[in-house]
Amino acid sequence: MNFETLVINSTQYHDANASAVVPPIYLSTTFEREPDSSIPHGHIYTRASNPNRNSLEKAYAVLEGGEVGMAFASGQAATATIFQCLSPNDHVIVPDDAYYGTPALLQEIMSVWGLKYTKVDMSDLAAIEAAFLPNTKLVWIESPSNPQLKITDIAEVATLARQKGAYTVCDNTWATPVLQRPLDLGCDVSMHSATKYFGGHSDLLSGALIFKENGPLAEKARMIQALGGAVPSPFDCWLVLRGLKTLPLRVRQQTSNAAQLAEFLSTHPALEAVHYPFLPSHSGVEVAKKQMSAGGAMMSIQVKGGEAAALALKSKVKVFIRATSLGGVESLIEHRATAEGVHSVSPKNLLRISVGLEHIDDLIADLKQALE
Ligand SMILES: *Cc1c(COP(=O)(O)O)cnc(C)c1O
Repeated sequence: MNFETLVINSTQYHDANASAVVPPIYLSTTFEREPDSSIPHGHIYTRASNPNRNSLEKAYAVLEGGEVGMAFASGQAATATIFQCLSPNDHVIVPDDAYYGTPALLQEIMSVWGLKYTKVDMSDLAAIEAAFLPNTKLVWIESPSNPQLKITDIAEVATLARQKGAYTVCDNTWATPVLQRPLDLGCDVSMHSATKYFGGHSDLLSGALIFKENGPLAEKARMIQALGGAVPSPFDCWLVLRGLKTLPLRVRQQTSNAAQLAEFLSTHPALEAVHYPFLPSHSGVEVAKKQMSAGGAMMSIQVKGGEAAALALKSKVKVFIRATSLGGVESLIEHRATAEGVHSVSPKNLLRISVGLEHIDDLIADLKQALE
């Protein structure tokens, strides 16, 4: 099956009770046992499993090409679960440019618990190799990275990590399986903030882990999911499943808009830099073209004139919405340093752009007038 068909097919629900084409939402937290105590449909209590969550988790596995999918209450809950699968004194290699919550989780929570970590420029393979310690158990990849769109050679890093006996996890939120397939490139786990493209409409919070193999790591994560309890509600699972149905269409159209916008911005004299993976000027363009089928719908720009100029640009937009987050149908622009707060390492003149589904001419015209 082609990916579009797979998406519709894997999110389909077969309703034994009413032959409904769209799934019902199972709000029940508890499930009845048979007189002999057996559990006819496999569900006991909703924190451990729920029909809506099961449907979503099965679709995740199919769409990322893994053996096991797991749904969480947020992207952060998914990330925390992976770190909790490790043991105190284990060492993690993380990108120096990444979603700010990933290193913040390590710094504020996991390091107190005894996890060690090193931040590395993940576009530099030699730097990654040099960062390995005897106790390195996990390499975290985020490509393209947030907010500077750095590109990591996923296959090379996965091979290196495997040789050193470490797991590789790729935060695939920005690319989605429509454009990039980390498990096919050798990663052990693909992680998502489903809050973004999977949900696609900026109206739910959820996270995902998809494991290449149903092995010890997946088993431990399943245990932490049920015991730690950071699970999504049945309604949020239902919403993500609905969002997934249009994922390929949305991502391709948003990507097409983004590519045109990046092209326009790349020659604008008021900008110092435009970070978009498929621009010829991007330092990672060759690796990006090797592992992504298109450049995605995220970009960031650095404005000449520093922070004040960036803030001024942002204040003038009329079509773009000034808000954090990404992956929804509406185009968003934000000053990343403001959003990240104390943990920010982002350049002060950087604005991050999530390109939505508006007409490309309106998006270009909006930034054109704001840049004047
Ligand atoms: C938003 C985001 C996260 C965190 O996900 P939440 O759903 O907000 O917890 C992690 N990684 C990336 C790349 C993100 O964009």
